[in-house]
Amino acid sequence: MQGFALYPFDPPGDISALRADLRTWLADHQPRGDIVERANCWASFDAGFSRALGAAGYIGMTLPARYGGGERHPLERYVVIEELLAAGAPVGAHWIADRQTGPLILRYGSEEQRQRYLPGIAKGELYACIGLSEPGAGSDLAAVRTSARETAEGWRINGQKIWTTGAHLSHVILALVRTEEGSERNAGLSQLLVDLDTPGITIRPIIDMAGNHDFNEIFFDDVLVPHGALIGTRGEGWKQVTAELGLERSGPERYLSSHALLAALIDAAGSDPDPAVAALIGELTAEMWTLRQLSMSTAAKLAAGEDPMVEASVVKELGNAFEQDMPRRVQAVIDCGWDDNADLARLLRALLIASPSFSLRGGTREVIRGIIARGLGLR
Ligand SMILES: Cc1cc2nc3c(=O)[nH]c(=O)nc-3n(C[C@H](O)[C@H](O)[C@H](O)COP(=O)(O)OP(=O)(O)OC[C@H]3O[C@@H](n4cnc5c(N)ncnc54)[C@H](O)[C@@H]3O)c2cc1C
Repeated sequence: MQGFALYPFDPPGDISALRADLRTWLADHQPRGDIVERANCWASFDAGFSRALGAAGYIGMTLPARYGGGERHPLERYVVIEELLAAGAPVGAHWIADRQTGPLILRYGSEEQRQRYLPGIAKGELYACIGLSEPGAGSDLAAVRTSARETAEGWRINGQKIWTTGAHLSHVILALVRTEEGSERNAGLSQLLVDLDTPGITIRPIIDMAGNHDFNEIFFDDVLVPHGALIGTRGEGWKQVTAELGLERSGPERYLSSHALLAALIDAAGSDPDPAVAALIGELTAEMWTLRQLSMSTAAKLAAGEDPMVEASVVKELGNAFEQDMPRRVQAVIDCGWDDNADLARLLRALLIASPSFSLRGGTREVIRGIIARGLGLR
């Protein structure tokens, strides 16, 4: 049993100075953008913004200086991410590379891989996508079928990935593949870092129900990549992916996806709000504050080098429930006679369509609850 432990969020140095510096930087550099884009900002792609953010030292913050990183404490990075999301900054281009691909390459990659990929990630110029899901393997990743066979020339990859966010805009994919012929379930899996311009790779768009192109299908047709594409240890892919998911599940993005709606509601409510609106603002703020403490405590456990699988899953589950419920709760209290073009109305409409997916991405609700139950010794 893993148990559940809360850690104090204790970053080094003057965090309020870091916040203030970033707020000043954002005031000078953040494009105004549309309110709907600002709402789900970790999907908003803006290469120029990512480059400028990287040059200012706010990407790759925890990476060593010899790879272009800032050698900052992980909790300083947490504060920066929180500020960027609360401001609705367009961080989508570098998001996955900074959050999980960079740390994974640092932890498991070879020296050659680190030198090749980490400086570009820290500059906000190299983008990555996550190749886990397949048509027959979503929640059940042990059902992965995409294969990579080692030959004299390198690895030959055949198969298909699906729901790959940002593949059409990324430079590399970190793919979970079956490297041992005849292996089953979570044995015999490995991770390969594949340049997306390699011959034999076809990327096809999947348009979501809001009409956006974030998702893709990726087909690997006898794709040959060098032996050096293997990240970490052959056959240890399952363990590596599990560590990667800890980074993916507990950040402030798990409760701030609908944050722009709360800010817009507060603006629209004005100085003499309707009592029902005032009550809802109070409830949402209190709930968000509690989630924030939980997420910060989980970040502190990650920063201490421990594996907060249970805590990260609790943040994801409660955070997703909060950000999914918020649009419906706002809809229930605001005046229905609104102007259809008003920011609040447009934002609400967009979040009512987008929010059902919040509890799917990064692991579905039922599966996350199963992880929590197992971690607490309840099953
Ligand atoms: C916005 C978004 C972005 C995404 N981006 C990426 C990405 O970049 N890369 C990537 O690889 N994937 C990505 N995904 C895919 C995502 O990880 C999968 O959708 C998710 O893992 C669920 O898999 P599935 O869709 O195959 O559903 P299934 O696994 O088929 O599940 C269907 C239903 O059955 C339930 N279920 C399944 N197993 C169990 C169980 N053991 N116990 C109880 N209930 C169960 C599930 O909870 C769900 O309700 C993204 C998804 C979304 C929505």
